[in-house]
Amino acid sequence: MGCSKNLVDSEKLMGQLRINNIEVTHQSDQPTDYVVINTCGFIKDAKEESIDTVLNFIEAKKSGLIEKIYVMGCLSERYLFDLKKEFPEVDGIYGVNNMEEIIHDIGANYKNELIGERVITTPQHFAYLKISEGCDRSCSFCAIPLIRGKHKSLPIEQLLDEARQLVDKGVKEIILIAQDLTYYGVDIYGSKQLPQLVEKLSQIKGIEWIRLHYAYPTQFPSEVLHLMNSLPNICHYIDIPLQHISDRILKSMRRGHTAETTKSLIQEFRNSVPDINIRTTLIVGYPGETESEFEELLQFVNESRFDRLGAFTYSHEENTHAFALKDDVDEDIKADRLNRLMELQEQISFEKNQEKVGLSLKVIIDRKEGQFYIGRTQFDSPEVDNEVIIKSTKKLKIGDFYQVKITYAEAFDLNAELV
Ligand code: SF4
Repeated sequence: MGCSKNLVDSEKLMGQLRINNIEVTHQSDQPTDYVVINTCGFIKDAKEESIDTVLNFIEAKKSGLIEKIYVMGCLSERYLFDLKKEFPEVDGIYGVNNMEEIIHDIGANYKNELIGERVITTPQHFAYLKISEGCDRSCSFCAIPLIRGKHKSLPIEQLLDEARQLVDKGVKEIILIAQDLTYYGVDIYGSKQLPQLVEKLSQIKGIEWIRLHYAYPTQFPSEVLHLMNSLPNICHYIDIPLQHISDRILKSMRRGHTAETTKSLIQEFRNSVPDINIRTTLIVGYPGETESEFEELLQFVNESRFDRLGAFTYSHEENTHAFALKDDVDEDIKADRLNRLMELQEQISFEKNQEKVGLSLKVIIDRKEGQFYIGRTQFDSPEVDNEVIIKSTKKLKIGDFYQVKITYAEAFDLNAELV
């Protein structure tokens, strides 16, 4: 359940179990003996989805379809005792830092020397590399620091080893993830080391694309932009959640950036890397958000013309700073604002995609669907961004790169033919 950071935890658990000669599957509906549910506890919808999943497997256990259920991850980290009380049928409930315990309880041995060992569950040609855990920031709406704790960077050498292992398994695209990517290294090296890490990763033979997700908009390490221009395998792509643009709301959110600093950072991205594609995430319906503050957000999106944009309605999360505020924006108004924002973004995405018609672009092939191949450009991250639908009489290899010409564009997809 949940985000790519949770997925990496699952992959590492699977790696340890497989090393113990335990057969493991991922998201499979094949018959099985044990089920491990790696939950998400970030916001209301995600929590409900995790709880429903646990309930479904409890029913499966009651009907003798499975023997044991183990629950781990963010929801159980956040509500450990409640879940233990609610779900006595579950054989083991663990937080986010109990990998050794769950492996032991499943009847396997944790092998410390295999710390980076993973079972890749994504298509073999791309994988996520989690460079740190936790977060030192205190954004008012966010429960992640409560769940994942303080920021802990993984040592560069360990990450380079993990990346080499991924390349040995056929990975060509490495997607760097964290709660706060740009803070990498401050805790263990005393300064931001993301540029140094990216530069070292780019020297690993076989890595064709390095993609950056979850950057934070204050003290952004601009050297990263220079690396995008100087090194051939850093995608001209940046994912940077901005959450809002109204100064009053940004202050209440404890974000540490203002409308002015935000806009100048976006300008710096575009001045430094002219073809950079920017993905962002926004929240609508934050406590006290007025219609005019929402209009300000719409105008910001209209002016900034993000290439990719995701948005959420505000979720009132206990023990966060914002929980002390009144969740006074009606759910219908939240939903309406989300729709208006995504409608605007759909129009922007459509217009921006028209600019790509006629261009020749390098794509990686993710899969085949019927007579079409589905791929992505360097401007598209898996699962969240645009896809390129390629018509080809020639047989293409999944995971390989090809040059294509964009022939037609829709709001969220491009059509192309092989060059
Ligand atoms: S940067 Fe803010 S929103 Fe992101 S994980 Fe940290 S506290 Fe949460």
